[in-house]
Amino acid sequence: MDAASVTFPRRRTRQINVGSVAVGGDAPISIQSMTTTKTADVEGTLQQIYALAAAGCDIVRCTCNEPEAAEGLARIVPRSPVPIIADIHHQYRMALAALEAGVQGLRLNPGNIRKPEHIKAVASECRDRGVPIRIGVNGGSLDPSLYEKYGGRVTPEAMVESAMMELAYFAEVDFSDVKISVKASNVPLMIEAYRQLADATDHPLHLGVTEAGPPPAGLVKGTAGLATLLAEGIGDTIRYSLTADPVEEARAGRQLLEAMGLRERKNIDLIACPSCGRAEVDVIQVAADAQAAFGDREIPLQVAVMGCVVNGPGEARDADLGIAAGRGRGHLFVKGQNVAVVPEDEMVEQLVEWAEYIVEHGTDAALARVDTTKAAREAERDRARLLGEQGDDANASEARVEVIRKISR
Ligand code: SF4
Repeated sequence: MDAASVTFPRRRTRQINVGSVAVGGDAPISIQSMTTTKTADVEGTLQQIYALAAAGCDIVRCTCNEPEAAEGLARIVPRSPVPIIADIHHQYRMALAALEAGVQGLRLNPGNIRKPEHIKAVASECRDRGVPIRIGVNGGSLDPSLYEKYGGRVTPEAMVESAMMELAYFAEVDFSDVKISVKASNVPLMIEAYRQLADATDHPLHLGVTEAGPPPAGLVKGTAGLATLLAEGIGDTIRYSLTADPVEEARAGRQLLEAMGLRERKNIDLIACPSCGRAEVDVIQVAADAQAAFGDREIPLQVAVMGCVVNGPGEARDADLGIAAGRGRGHLFVKGQNVAVVPEDEMVEQLVEWAEYIVEHGTDAALARVDTTKAAREAERDRARLLGEQGDDANASEARVEVIRKISR
């Protein structure tokens, strides 16, 4: 048997969709992480989301712990390149507010929201909106009644029972668009809980060792839990929980999946903003043209196609190379620094030319061949012009914020 033919057969799960990302079934195992910014800090959070996406993250979770966070989500979701999941703590109203903000998924901890009528109200709303929920059982915040039932200890059985109880509440309102996690910081406990859960249900599973701590120990703990289960075919989406920059989590997730032969990447990694009220070009078309132009060529760079120069270069500052649309022209940037202004119909051609140059000569050489000050000045000119024309609320997020204020306060 050669190395390429060694694979880990995956357990069969049903498939759900977190926005554009399929989870479970035959979908690739996806990588998740969580922002560490205040969600109310829209620009800071979006910058982190773009950095995560550039590091290989497929789905990003943001906390939604207060009305200001829900309002932030209304502004973040239309501009995020990847689906956003709202992390709900104790208040079910925050779940309703996050749904109003347009999030593509919710995470509920059954140990925190315990009133059945609240759980069912959230599940009904998710059912009506077609938004999935992760039931996120956590060994550290188990429902006290289950804790007691199992002798004052957190056991795999208690964690699985907590998840199944929540599933039963959801079933009462005919909602089953669910993935599940049973995380613990204790690796053997977490492994056994997931094994039991995999026997009990065919819902897709989100794997993680929670509160694993700072690297390298946190990485080792996370890898011990994740890799063991993945090798058994268990797991449809993963998250490392590190006390570090979340980009480290996304990177570790990607590296683990690549190391285990569960994900492959050697060509261009094209990221594109979803387009929103600010877009100055047809982002979908430009991204498709760029994808076609790069094709299967072995250019292992992250390339960003961004709809506007107002936010594009900042949001995608971690990409190796990118283009952001201004008025009838494109602003090329390398690692967040503006390098050139090109006519709109040459944007894709120029992207390819710059990508080839970077692969051959490196980023520093690419930056050195142009006057970045001049390019930055041009970008700032278009940026100011667009802001003047479109105002601050091109996505009409403020209307949603008004509704959220009514729901959540
Ligand atoms: S058009 Fe601009 S603001 Fe909108 S998502 Fe794209 S880069 Fe972000």
